Amino acid sequence: MSGSGRDVIALARELAAEFGERAGEVDREGRFPHENIARLKESGYLQLPIPEELGGSGADLSTVCRAQSILAGGCASTALAANMHLFGLGAAAESLADGQDEARMVLQLAATGIVIGGSFTDAATGLNVRASSTPAERVEGGYKIHGRKAFCSLAPALDIFYGTAGLTDGTGLLLFAIGRDAPGLSFVDTWDTMAMRGTGSWDVIFDEVFVPEFMAQVGTPWDEWDRRSERMLSWFSCTVASVYLGIAEAALAFTASYLSKRTLGGMKHPISRQPGIIFGAGEVDALIRPARALLEDTLRRREDRVLPAHEVVAVKYCVTNAAVAAVDRCFRMVGGSGLYRRLPIERMFRDVQAGPLHPPTNDLALEGLGRAALGIPADAQPRWGD
Ligand SMILES: Cc1cc2nc3c(=O)[nH]c(=O)nc-3n(C[C@H](O)[C@H](O)[C@H](O)COP(=O)(O)OP(=O)(O)OC[C@H]3O[C@@H](n4cnc5c(N)ncnc54)[C@H](O)[C@@H]3O)c2cc1C
Repeated sequence: MSGSGRDVIALARELAAEFGERAGEVDREGRFPHENIARLKESGYLQLPIPEELGGSGADLSTVCRAQSILAGGCASTALAANMHLFGLGAAAESLADGQDEARMVLQLAATGIVIGGSFTDAATGLNVRASSTPAERVEGGYKIHGRKAFCSLAPALDIFYGTAGLTDGTGLLLFAIGRDAPGLSFVDTWDTMAMRGTGSWDVIFDEVFVPEFMAQVGTPWDEWDRRSERMLSWFSCTVASVYLGIAEAALAFTASYLSKRTLGGMKHPISRQPGIIFGAGEVDALIRPARALLEDTLRRREDRVLPAHEVVAVKYCVTNAAVAAVDRCFRMVGGSGLYRRLPIERMFRDVQAGPLHPPTNDLALEGLGRAALGIPADAQPRWGD
């Protein structure tokens, strides 16, 4: 761990306890927890990966992952929303450390309290990181964007939006950033979902939004597995996996505490002494333990070298799916009372379902892992054999 690791973990614990008090209410009302984001800002949590000399904590990927698991145990929605800001900053901090000075500006902005969020998902056509159906037209001095994006977590609080659009002249993908108050840009609350209800993952509407040339870049950043792609995918996958693992760890802690206090009529011992519950807890532990070990092992090995794509994908796939299975088992151990919204396991059961839906989704992850296992290049053409 680096970046005053112990202080960061203590801060994450304090914030998780505080946010945990209102996580049920945030979920039930499906409201965005502005007060949590304000606390993350003033406590320095949103500046964790920013280098110390620029005003942050200089926390590395391992430290941010640990902190995000803890935070998610208190309020998973807040942790996931914050994640969309943190992962990009972490990748930018590594770019700066690698000598890419152009990463400095975003880190300096974020150090002042600016919140950054974005969406790569086109509202009508879903996610394709290599293309976008939101059109961008070249105009004098920049681009005009018209269309709609979805799944923009943090939308109610972000100051800078980043995303992708497809150039109408067919020359590629535009990666751009724009201030929240840009004329023609608006955010619409469409986020009435079964899970992660407090992330404010609204739609974003572009009505002829002008993006100046200096705020945009043409190209497909993920086409080549270079250091830049690795940084983005590692920061994204490992922190997202940590959020969902944090839900599973909190679900086990809740289940253990609940069942060890619950005694059914006529029983001398709490229900946690029943064999089904003991074996169930063993199964959950046996799901969580290798998931945490894989995540931490991958992070340790990453300190020495750039990881291959399929190893990063493996973390995201294995950890988020283990988390779903672990919370499912906890939910069944708690029994019928787990259906009541007054118990946090009901919310955890729904929230954890979102894990495998983040990119790379299960199908794409398995395709990547399968190709690597078979020695088939990731970009082999045709994609499927006859
Ligand atoms: C809680 C939550 C918060 C999110 N926040 C953000 C955010 O802040 N910013 C952001 O950019 N995104 C965010 N996302 C969106 C996410 O990145 C996805 O875009 C979104 O979940 C829709 O993607 P999808 O692949 O499920 O849907 P679709 O793109 O509609 O895909 C539908 C199905 O087709 C499969 N599929 C898609 N493409 C292929 C392919 N090429 N080959 C094979 N199968 C394919 C998918 O696996 C899926 O099963 C968030 C998602 C969640 C769940």
